[in-house]
Amino acid sequence: MSGLATAIALRRAGRTTDRDFVVLEQSSGLGGTWWDNRYPGAHVDVPAPLYSLSHSPNPLWSRRFAAAAEIQAYMQHCAQRHGVLPHLRLGTRLVSAHFDGASARWHLQAVDGRRWRARHFVCSTGPLSQPRWPDIPGLQDFAGTLLHSARWPADGLAQAAGRRVGVIGSGSTASQLVPPLAATAAQMTLFQRTANWVLPRPDRRYGAIDRLLAQMPPYSRAVRAFWYHVLEWGRNGFDEGTLARRGMLRAAERHLRRQISDPVLRERLRPPYPLGCKRIIYSSDFYRALTRPNAALVTDRIETVTPQGLRTVAADGRTTEHALDLLVCATGFDTQHLLAGLDLRGAGGTTLAETWRDGPSALHGMTVAGFPNLYLLLGPNTGTGHTSTLLYIEPQVQHVLDCLGELKRRDARWLAPRADAQAAQDAVLQARLAGSVWSQCRSWYRHENGRITALWPGRTGEYVQALRASRWQDYVFG
Ligand code: NAP
Repeated sequence: MSGLATAIALRRAGRTTDRDFVVLEQSSGLGGTWWDNRYPGAHVDVPAPLYSLSHSPNPLWSRRFAAAAEIQAYMQHCAQRHGVLPHLRLGTRLVSAHFDGASARWHLQAVDGRRWRARHFVCSTGPLSQPRWPDIPGLQDFAGTLLHSARWPADGLAQAAGRRVGVIGSGSTASQLVPPLAATAAQMTLFQRTANWVLPRPDRRYGAIDRLLAQMPPYSRAVRAFWYHVLEWGRNGFDEGTLARRGMLRAAERHLRRQISDPVLRERLRPPYPLGCKRIIYSSDFYRALTRPNAALVTDRIETVTPQGLRTVAADGRTTEHALDLLVCATGFDTQHLLAGLDLRGAGGTTLAETWRDGPSALHGMTVAGFPNLYLLLGPNTGTGHTSTLLYIEPQVQHVLDCLGELKRRDARWLAPRADAQAAQDAVLQARLAGSVWSQCRSWYRHENGRITALWPGRTGEYVQALRASRWQDYVFG
């Protein structure tokens, strides 16, 4: 979505030829997350009116929490309407991106040998693009069907019909996948390492009247503004002692009690960490799916995958064999080695991997000292746990355009942040995050060394204002 948002912004700014820009995409279709994540039940967990580009509201959403296919279709429509399709190079996996100091250009190369030279390199891969397989011994020896949620085949649900299905993982993805799988499989077993906080999802269908009203700009703007403010208020829920937090804790408890009557099962679904530390799950059917007669929740540690299924071991050392035909890994993404598949080198040949060995960092999450004219979208510390990611993408895209404008004004060829400015900003950010709720558990928000490198800790407006007010003194130009 961030790559397409950039392309649309460039087109709207009058850069309309193939020589102005191309969009390189490794998948065979557009939409990124919403192309890759086609597992049954996949949908967005913020209201769709806020999950759209501000200049292209979609009056056709069929429900408040839109399904993956609908969001992908919306992005396809936006790309088409704004003339982005001819710029797209689908099925193009980049393997190297080197900045050449003499020409002040990026040299990009795809896996099939195609090359490009570009003044600017906007890297819009996001943190959640590389599927992570669980590090469980024996995984590759499994004799049944092995699937990852982020690489779901079109007939995945059909493959589950009448079979014994195991799901590893209990995060946002698993919570969406489990209900349709449990409704289809002969037996569905969820292997949960950590229970998560679940709040009800206030979903509803949008009918003909909603769609008619949504055609009217003042109405659609008001709906968007409403959800913006509701979710910003919800951000308070991440801070101890707030009214929002008390309300969310009460709602989570009520939800658990209403949907799970068995006190033993309820206890096993109680999260062992503070609310908000990991992504909050919004689901009205996940708990219910676990109460089906053909569903089971296993909380014993997985010891190994066997050709026939999984072996778990209980706290008292007792082992259990679970026979499975289909094993689904809803185990998330590799957020520890961002851009690991790309040999990315800045000025002087320094690699991004070396620069980021203690965890990723960037000025405003976007630009990195020593890497001229490299712009990261949804880069370090710009993820949000409480609202629509597009509210962060759009100002970032504007920042890219502002940088291009500033370079032109100065008649300069490149810019990069000053190392001291980047380090000072990072120190302030890390000090603020150190005592936050996100420091109190293991999650994809945190680097292996404990630094929280994925999340922006504040409200959306605070980030947007800081980015808008970014000072050119913090950059070097050449
Ligand atoms: P995730 O939040 O990283 O969850 C991965 C799950 O796999 C966790 O329950 C984890 O357990 C478990 N796991 C990993 N390795 C394991 C192992 N070796 N053994 C047992 N369990 C293991 O991944 P995700 O659910 O795909 O979600 C990632 C992010 O994608 C979300 O936080 C959200 O930002 C985004 N997302 C959004 C939506 C949406 O509605 N918009 C939907 C899906 C995903 P532990 O908790 O114990 O580590």
